[in-house]
Amino acid sequence: MALGVMCAAHIHADTRPNIVFFLVDDMGWQETSVPFHTEVTELNRRYHTPNMQRLAADGMKFTQAYASAVCSPTRVSAITGMNAARHRVTNWTLRKNASPDNPHKTLQPPVWNVNGICMEQGIERTYQVTPLPSLLREAGYRTIHVGKAHFGAKETPGDDPLNLGFDINIAGHAAGGPGSYWGEKNFSAAWRTDPPAIIWDVPGLEDYHGKNIYLTEALTLEAIKAVEQSVAEKEPFYLYMSHYAVHAPWEKDDRFYQTYIDAGLKPFEATLASMIEGMDKSLGDVMAAIKRFGVENNTIVIFMSDNGSPSQCPRNLPLRGHKLTPYEGGTREPMIVKWPGVTKPAASCDTPLIIEDFFPSILELAGVDWHGKTKQSVDGRSFVPLLKGDQIESEDRNFIWHFPHNYSGQGSFSAIRRGPWKLIHHHSDQRLELFNLETDIGEKHNHASDQPVRVKQLANELGKELRSKQALMPINKITGKPVAFADKLLQDE
Ligand code: CA
Repeated sequence: MALGVMCAAHIHADTRPNIVFFLVDDMGWQETSVPFHTEVTELNRRYHTPNMQRLAADGMKFTQAYASAVCSPTRVSAITGMNAARHRVTNWTLRKNASPDNPHKTLQPPVWNVNGICMEQGIERTYQVTPLPSLLREAGYRTIHVGKAHFGAKETPGDDPLNLGFDINIAGHAAGGPGSYWGEKNFSAAWRTDPPAIIWDVPGLEDYHGKNIYLTEALTLEAIKAVEQSVAEKEPFYLYMSHYAVHAPWEKDDRFYQTYIDAGLKPFEATLASMIEGMDKSLGDVMAAIKRFGVENNTIVIFMSDNGSPSQCPRNLPLRGHKLTPYEGGTREPMIVKWPGVTKPAASCDTPLIIEDFFPSILELAGVDWHGKTKQSVDGRSFVPLLKGDQIESEDRNFIWHFPHNYSGQGSFSAIRRGPWKLIHHHSDQRLELFNLETDIGEKHNHASDQPVRVKQLANELGKELRSKQALMPINKITGKPVAFADKLLQDE
């Protein structure tokens, strides 16, 4: 560490806030006892997340917080501030140069960044970036990574969070899921014989191998140790508490499972509920530790999920769709922020925001001026004014999703939200859908044919946004050309 940085760290160490970014995997908008809809839903009644309720009671709940519809794009957007259309890590990553896309009759995926992100130059099919933790570290923060990373493919630098600005890495690597949640199985998938799947084995955590402990608990214990050390050494910390839960493989958390069986849930439903409650216990344990260490009043806690619930899970009514889809069930997430002394207790904010906003927001919370210091262009906007109770004008803001892939039943699409309106462009058949989210949160009524002027306006905005980000469209196998952007499509009619 350079001397100047050390001095800066000492000067600010007492006042700068610690930041906990608590990110859950594959948790849907309704999979909590905290109501994010205007009314309490069936799923709100099913799940028990008392610590999320406490966080919401102390902080601000966001009812229209968006992510990408799948893991890696969301995680890359949060750590870089770029929209997925720009960073081009548009599907999930794992093996070097190997895309998980399924073959499609007429389309093939573009040459996307299948190897994720990295800080190094010249790594094929990656986006070279200045990641969030590297800026925090430079400013004197201790940057702690716990859990799922999923930023870059195996055998590339982005596999290891230590190459992305983290000082400490506990259990993170290329894979977007754990081999197993069970300590008895060493958190490994080696026991799966067909196919052998050791690429998913959780690295580290050897102390817990062979023991009766759930992965969520092991990660929490290790995170608390790292926080305790940081507090003892008087360094402000950034804890990226990125749980593998509640992503597949769905394996029951025995601490909570039986309660849900007794409540009448089927084994799969009770398994998912137990994983959610285990995750919530982790949130409670982290908050309790912060209090015990005497830094509660100077620690900001941000709760978020990375995409909607998978299709195997119950629908998050009233939302339509699941993980991977362009509908709200794929992208709308439960988000809560507690900033002691700033966010009003039990506040609720309906202003839409999106995952790339986390980058400038977290840096602003940490007091780090990042302008002019990043290799990448940042698309995100800070949501810090909202935490202070100020308004942000969002009626004219374009929110963009881009998935030029065919995977697990979901075809290639782009989508835009502007004000209450959302336009979806399905690439394979050039179909357009237009929904009014204010009056139709379930996206049941497609207005594409009865609102041609609005369709044209949104298609123009979508085309402009994708073009400015140099978005990659899928390739038409017959013509060998990329699929046209939505605005071009309408011009040709
Ligand atoms: Ca995910």
